[in-house]
This record gives sequence, C-alpha cells and structure tokens, in this order.
Amino acid sequence: MFGLAVHGGAGTLPRAQLDPDRERAYRAGLADALQAGGEILARNGSSLDAVTRAVVVLEDNPLFNAGRGAVLTLDGHHELDAAIMEGSKLRAGAVCGLHHIRNPVELARTVMEHSDYVMLHGAGAEEFALQQGFSLVANEYFRTEERWRQLERLRRGDPQLSPLTISHVGTVGAVALDTKGGLAAATSTGGMTAKRYSRIGDSPIIGAGTYADDRCGAVSATGHGEIFIRAAVAHDICARVRFTACSLEQAVRDVVYGELVALRGEGGVIAIDRHGHIAMEFNSEGMFRGSLTAGGEPRTSIYGDP
Ligand code: ASP
Repeated sequence: MFGLAVHGGAGTLPRAQLDPDRERAYRAGLADALQAGGEILARNGSSLDAVTRAVVVLEDNPLFNAGRGAVLTLDGHHELDAAIMEGSKLRAGAVCGLHHIRNPVELARTVMEHSDYVMLHGAGAEEFALQQGFSLVANEYFRTEERWRQLERLRRGDPQLSPLTISHVGTVGAVALDTKGGLAAATSTGGMTAKRYSRIGDSPIIGAGTYADDRCGAVSATGHGEIFIRAAVAHDICARVRFTACSLEQAVRDVVYGELVALRGEGGVIAIDRHGHIAMEFNSEGMFRGSLTAGGEPRTSIYGDP
C-alpha cells in the first residue's frame, strides 16, 4: 500500500476566471507531480524521495508559486521558502529567503541530511548550497510575465486585487506514505505577492506549514501564512491524531474549519496517515490538489467537487 497527495495552492481564483485551457494546464501540472512521485512509491521507494520529486516537478512548472513562477516581493524580487520532514525519525530541513536556488525543496532536504541544523536562511543558506554542490541561478530565472503583471497591478492599488487573493494561487506541497509505512511531507513557496522583503511565511516553519510523524500523519499547508504560523496548523493536526481518538480526516476538518476560520485564516491542507487515509480540506474557494493510491489513477480537483 502507498499513497501520495499534492497541492498547488489554496486560492480564491473565482471559478469564472479559470478558463478551460488554464484549468487543464493546472490539472496536468498536478498529474505530472503525482505521476513522478507515484513512480517512486510504486517501486517501493521512500516517501521522502516521492515528496521531493513531486515538489521539484511543481517548482519547475511556472504556473505554480514555487521555484519558477514564484510571486514577487514588493521591491520586485523573488524570495523562496521550503521545508521537508521525514516522519520515521522526525528529521526535518527548511530554507527561507532564498534568491538563487532553482529547487528550494532539494536544499531543504540537504540541510536535513547534511547539516546539524534544521533551518538555514538567505545568503548563509546559499553559501551552504554552493558547498554542497548546488549551482545558483539568477533571480530573474523565477520571473514570469504574469507574476510581474500581478505585482504591477497591486502596486497601482487595483481595488479588485488583494495580495491574499493572488498569492494563494500556487504554493506547492506533497505528502506521502510509502510501502514500508513511512510518512513524509514537503512544501515550497514564493510566499505572498508583494510581501515585504525578508517576510517568512508558514511553509518553511516546521509544525506550521509542514510536519510529518509516522505515529499520526504527514501534513502540508497552503494559505495565509501568518495565521497558519499562529495556529501551528500542521503540528496541531498531528497532535490531535496522536493524543486523542480523532481520525486524521476529523483532525483536518476541525483545524481547517474550526481553528483557522476562528482566526480568519484562509487556506487548506493536504494530509495522509499511516493507514493511507488522505484528507484534503480548504476553507477558501478552491485548492489545487490531487491524489494517487496504489493501483489507482491520479485524481485532480480544484473547487469543492470531488
Ligand atoms: N502559505 C504561504 C505563505 O504564507 C502562501 C500560500 O500558501 O499561498 O507564504
């Protein structure tokens, strides 16, 4: 038995604004990530390898707000955050404020596996990357016309746009259960559009946007990061499963529709437990998401429909 779920951000991109071609492109991007991670799991590979691969595929896809296609800071740069966690040993790695790393999730994993630290930031993280054999890319590598136009509209104060609305389209994440019962989670993002430089959201914060513990579940979140940090969303879900009789599905619903709504925290999570139960819930209009289980076909969805 194995299972894999991915997300491409919780968003309020109204259904009416998502034309069929664009919808197909988003779904194809999610399916590619499921396929890439699923192949690893089907060969009895680790959940850690599967979530790394799935997130790399989404980081390389310019439609999503991670890696290429990431949103811009108010001063017109890209600052990237990512985290990864392995549920069997509670090992974790995270990076934030990156300017030059093509696949931040791979650097997060390298921090976990080849350093004594959990989180590295900015220039120091990139110096570590060089020492570990990564090459750097220009900050412009991440730029797309569409993200630039979104920033320009926000800078002009377009009343139809809010930073929250746009930026929720595209943070990426993956959670997986492998055939040996191991869980892992990973999340990667450019953060929120027009964020102040040096702002860090929930995605790279272990326990907020990303968490995995084989005893309870693996969780990757997307949404208004400040609120997700305050609610310690990913760890809260795991703790409910571990310390109460709550199922993963119930814990996810209680946190997404209870704790987060009470704090006006818009967004959602994907989660999986050691029995392969997958939960994908959001309190925003939609969440790009997909899942795959052993022997099944990749399934993708965006709005409230299954
Ligand atoms: N949670 C991310 C952040 O606050 C944004 C998102 O998921 O869209 O950086």
